[in-house]
Amino acid sequence: MLPPNLLINSPSNIPILHLPHPSPRPLSISSIFFQMTNPNVVVSDTQSAIAMAITAAVNNSPLFPPSPYNITLFSRNKFPKSIETTATAGVGKNIAWVEAMRASSPTRNSSENSEEKKNWIMKHPSALGMFEDIMSAAKMKQVVIFLDYDGTLSPIVQNPDQAYMAPEMREAVKNVAKYFPTAIVSGRCRSKVYNFVRLSELYYAGSHGMDIKGPSSRKHQKRNQNVLCQPAKEFLPMMAKVYEILLEKTEGIAGANVENNKFCLSVHFRCVEEQSWGDLADRVKSVLKDYPKLRLTQGRKVLEIRPTVKWDKGNAIEFLLESLGYANSKDVLPIYIGDDRTDEDAFRVLKKRGQGFGILVSKIPKETDAIYSLQEPFEVMYFLQRLVTWKRLIMRNH
Ligand SMILES: [Mg+2]
Repeated sequence: MLPPNLLINSPSNIPILHLPHPSPRPLSISSIFFQMTNPNVVVSDTQSAIAMAITAAVNNSPLFPPSPYNITLFSRNKFPKSIETTATAGVGKNIAWVEAMRASSPTRNSSENSEEKKNWIMKHPSALGMFEDIMSAAKMKQVVIFLDYDGTLSPIVQNPDQAYMAPEMREAVKNVAKYFPTAIVSGRCRSKVYNFVRLSELYYAGSHGMDIKGPSSRKHQKRNQNVLCQPAKEFLPMMAKVYEILLEKTEGIAGANVENNKFCLSVHFRCVEEQSWGDLADRVKSVLKDYPKLRLTQGRKVLEIRPTVKWDKGNAIEFLLESLGYANSKDVLPIYIGDDRTDEDAFRVLKKRGQGFGILVSKIPKETDAIYSLQEPFEVMYFLQRLVTWKRLIMRNH
């Protein structure tokens, strides 16, 4: 049961009939990718207004009451061996870790047409190819959309500050949110991902779900009240301090980039020469020795320091589904789309619930708990557009 200020109205369940989907709309791929990778297409003059709006909302509400969940701490002894054992081991042990880091974000050409890929696609078919099956499962259910940001809505770029979203993608997400509750679930801090997406009608779960807030637009706020959750709030001063230490420690390693994501500190390896990866990893891990309440996780060419609070993207989607009134409901169909290891926590939750679909965005075979796959952000956009067209057709026919 959620505390009163976290309770929101359940959206009405609209009866849904299965109809044949329309023909795909022709799209200009080259123009989309030009805009996806062109930093000049984004105007961020609303940034300060957005920050003020969030601050005002936060200051005017009974903030972040004790979580309704039993927040437990991870035992650092239970961390994945690939990361944790190397935290205290010598450089030699880093070889396996470097291999894992390399594999986490492979080059575009690797094994694209291999037998392995064909088998993998059989196991995790394209969500576009299976669109009708997915929609068939959505009959009489409320679809809820969860979207990762980097590598899902935006392309992976060298500089994480320039991971802009194409205007067409923003339009697709905006349209999806008109018909389905929609949340962005990202490793980035909430304000940063908001500034990339700039849609006030969405839910945002930043810092891998450790900082959740409902829609900030007045229209949606009325319906959803103040959905807020910060299960690791007490870690904020520690995270700010460790951010400063990380900046100091990583100084001198060319290309190393430390990103402060509030509840999660991300050290990006993407622009670092591979021969320095071991050194950089050792420096990052050395910081943890003095902070036993923090833990290390690995993503796509990134090492991340997070509180040892057992709260991840999977917990975030459970919290959001409960907030929407679907804690134990059979009338909901959550769809989660993501590209990274941290999205696996969310895929696992859906699998465990036996409800909804995880969709992994990947061009190459990866071990995953997702059911379906999409190759790249462009396909994610196309999937979202088809969802909207499908919904509009249903509404037109009733
Ligand atoms: Mg991602």
